[in-house]
Amino acid sequence: MRLILLGPPGAGKGTQAQRLVQRHGIVQLSTGDMLRAAIAANTPIGQKAKDIMARGALVPDDVVVGIISERMDKPDAKNGFVLDGFPRTVAQAEALNRLLKEKNLNLDAVIELRVDEDALLSRIERRIAEMKARGETVRADDNADALKIRLDAYRAQTAPLITYYGQKGALKTVDGMAGIDEVTAAINAALAAPDSSVGRQNTARA
Ligand code: AMP
Repeated sequence: MRLILLGPPGAGKGTQAQRLVQRHGIVQLSTGDMLRAAIAANTPIGQKAKDIMARGALVPDDVVVGIISERMDKPDAKNGFVLDGFPRTVAQAEALNRLLKEKNLNLDAVIELRVDEDALLSRIERRIAEMKARGETVRADDNADALKIRLDAYRAQTAPLITYYGQKGALKTVDGMAGIDEVTAAINAALAAPDSSVGRQNTARA
């Protein structure tokens, strides 16, 4: 099973990706996590991404396409994956089509978690408070200024992917405002629906 989870920051992509990992025995490929690991390891990619990410802006397409391509080739991704935070631009979606074609893989579905924008800020504020309460380090981009830029980037650069995948017949929209378990159930139902599998010709088209 190969999936894309689409939605703004705070929509619950990470939580739902974990549920999909458990249910389908696939791996979560989060470009945000990979970039944060690169920053922690102080690799050249990490050095390039650090300030851009802290600001809340998007890292250049070629950087994320490169890391996702390498990650897809790892043995643990053979059984499938859920892409979380990638693609984030139409150019990335087109690069993904090319990668899948080259690797002879197909995509099963694109799941959009639709959330009310007004709820996002309070959701993220709650996440920050919970992390602090657990004594965890808060992300460098979990602050009001960076959040505004992240939401603007989503609206301008990522939201067009909803139309992009909708036109390809690959999109499944789920109400992300419901409780976590209800969202999981809605995703499972959408994936089980007879028309959920999108053929190679729909998603691999450049
Ligand atoms: P996330 O963990 O998905 O919220 O991503 C955190 C940050 O990592 C984003 O605000 C971007 O700076 C960067 N990032 C993650 N994925 C991508 C991507 N696909 N394209 C560009 N930048 C990304």
